[in-house]
Amino acid sequence: MATTSKLLRFVEIEQQTPEKRAATERKRDFDEIYEAFSPDAAATQAGRCSQCGVPFCQVNCPVSNNIPDWLKLTAEGRLEEAYEVSQATNTFPEICGRICPQDRLCEGNCVIEKGFDSVTIGSVEKYVTDTAWEKGWVKPIVPPVERAQSIAIIGAGPGGLAAAENLRRKGYKVHVYDRYDRVGGLMIYGIPNFKLEKDVVLRRAEQFEKSGIVFHLNFEVGRDATLAELRAKHDAVLIATGVYKARVLEAPGAGLENVVKAMTYLTASNRKGLGDDVPEFDSGALDAAGKHVVVIGGGDTAMDCVRTAIRQGAKSVKCLYRRDKKNMPGSQREVANAEEEGVEFVWLAAPEAFVAKAAKAKTKKAGAEPVGAVRAYRMRLGIADATGRQVPEKIEGSSFELPCDLAIEALGFDPEDVPAMFGAPELSVTRWGTLKVNHRTMMTSLDGVFAAGDIVRGASLVVWAIRDGRDAADQIHKFLAAKVKPAAAAAE
Ligand code: FAD
Ligand code: SF4
Ligand code: SF4
Repeated sequence: MATTSKLLRFVEIEQQTPEKRAATERKRDFDEIYEAFSPDAAATQAGRCSQCGVPFCQVNCPVSNNIPDWLKLTAEGRLEEAYEVSQATNTFPEICGRICPQDRLCEGNCVIEKGFDSVTIGSVEKYVTDTAWEKGWVKPIVPPVERAQSIAIIGAGPGGLAAAENLRRKGYKVHVYDRYDRVGGLMIYGIPNFKLEKDVVLRRAEQFEKSGIVFHLNFEVGRDATLAELRAKHDAVLIATGVYKARVLEAPGAGLENVVKAMTYLTASNRKGLGDDVPEFDSGALDAAGKHVVVIGGGDTAMDCVRTAIRQGAKSVKCLYRRDKKNMPGSQREVANAEEEGVEFVWLAAPEAFVAKAAKAKTKKAGAEPVGAVRAYRMRLGIADATGRQVPEKIEGSSFELPCDLAIEALGFDPEDVPAMFGAPELSVTRWGTLKVNHRTMMTSLDGVFAAGDIVRGASLVVWAIRDGRDAADQIHKFLAAKVKPAAAAAE
C-alpha cells in the first residue's frame, strides 16, 4: 500500500467541484450542466478525505458505499480497483454520482464539512465509473453457475434493475417486464437529460441484455398478463412498479386546456430528446416555447419542470410554492441552478384557481378555453405541526394573478391501485396504497411475491430504489434456496 501522503489533505486543499457550465450557455441545450473532473482534480479532491474510522458519509449513504476505500484508491491513481470497490455495493454508481441529493446524504454528513467543506464524493464516484466505462472495465455479468429457476421482475426502473443485476449474478434466469418501450423507468422518462444524460442509462440497459437478462418491453402487467399468470410461469416475482398517480389540485379551472401534469410534460420532453415522434409536443400543447409558464410545487419534480421550460424557450417561468425557500422539499442545489437559469420563485403563495383566457376576455365558453392566468393567494408560516414543520396559512384578501399559457402541476405522486391493476385483490396494501411487505423478507402478502422501490416506500430516490432492489434480490435468493433444498433432499 502506498503511504497516506496523498490523503488527509482537506486543510491544504480547498473543495473543488467539476466546472458548471454558465447559465447563459447551458439553458440553450439539454446537455448535463457539470463538466467531468480532470484525472488530477479527481485524485486531489479524493485526497481531501480524512479516512475516518467511523465514516459518517458511508453510514448516510443508502447503499452503504465503502466511500473511504474508493476515495483512497482514487487519490492513489488506482482507478480500476476504485471502480471494483464502488460497483460492489451500487448497481449505478455513475447515476448516483450525478443525481443523488448528496447534500442530504453522504456529503452532508462528511465530517470535514464542518469548517472545510465536504469531500466531493458524488463527483468522484461519477468520475471513477465514467472512466471505467471509457476504459472497458464494465463487463457483462458471467454468473459462476447457471440455475434453472426464473424470476419475473415487474418494472425496469432502478429498483427492478438493481434486483435483476444481483439475481443474474447469482445465476438465475431473470425476466423483466415493463409497460414502457425503454429500460430505465423514471431515469429515462422522468428525470431530464440535463441532470442525467439518457445514454448513461441506455448503455447500462444494453449491458444487462448482454448479461442474459431478458426484457419484455411494451408489456403491461394487468393488460398483457395477470399477476397469477406470471406467478405460474416463474419461481418468484418482484413488483417494482414505482408510483405514478399524480396528485391533483382540486381548484376551479383545473380542467382548462394547457393545465397539465408534471409527468405528462416531462415525458413528452424526454421522448422528444430521445428522437421519438411526440404529436402532443409537436402540436405545441406540451412545448413551453414562447409561453408564460407557471409550475406549482416545490419538490425536485417541480425543479425539473421549471428548468425544462427554460430550455424550451419559455417567455417567463414562475414557480409557485406555499412555503418559503428554507422549507422547500426540493434540493437547494437544484433551486440554485434554477435561479441561475432565470426561474422566478414565488414563495409563500398557493394557487386558488386557473383562469381561462376567454374569462379574462369576458367571453362565456370558459370550460373549453385555454388557461390564461393562475390566481393565487399569499401564505404565511404558522405554528409547527406534529412533524415539526410550520403549517402554511392563507392571508385573507391577498389574491393576485400570474399570467400563464401553460400551468404545470407538480404536487407529488401516489401509488396506482396495484391489486386492481394486477387482478390480485389478495395483495395487501397500506393505508397510503403502497404495497405491504414484511420488512425483513420483503415479501408481500402473496407467497413468493416480493416488492421494492417507490411502490413500497412511496415517491423516494433512485439510490433508495437501488438499495431495496439489492436487498430484495438477497431475500429472493434465500427464498428460492430454501425451496430447492427440500426438493434436493427428497430426490436423494
Ligand atoms: P420507477 O423508476 O418509477 O420504475 C417503475 C417501472 O415500472 C417503470 O418503468 C414503469 O413503466 C413500470 N411499470 C409500472 N407499472 C407497470 C405494469 N403494470 N406493468 C409493467 N411495468 C410497469 N431521484 C433521485 O435520486 N434524484 C433525482 O434527481 C430525482 N429526480 C426525479 C425527477 C422526477 C421528475 C421524478 C418523477 C422522480 C425523480 N427522482 C429522483 C425519484 C426517482 O426517479 C424514483 O425514486 C425512482 O426512479 C424509483 O425507482 P423504482 O424502480 O421504484 O420506480
Ligand atoms: Fe453519495 Fe449517493 Fe454515492 Fe451514496 S450513492 S455515496 S449517497 S452519491
Ligand atoms: Fe472521508 Fe468525509 Fe467520509 Fe470522513 S466522512 S471518510 S472525511 S468522505
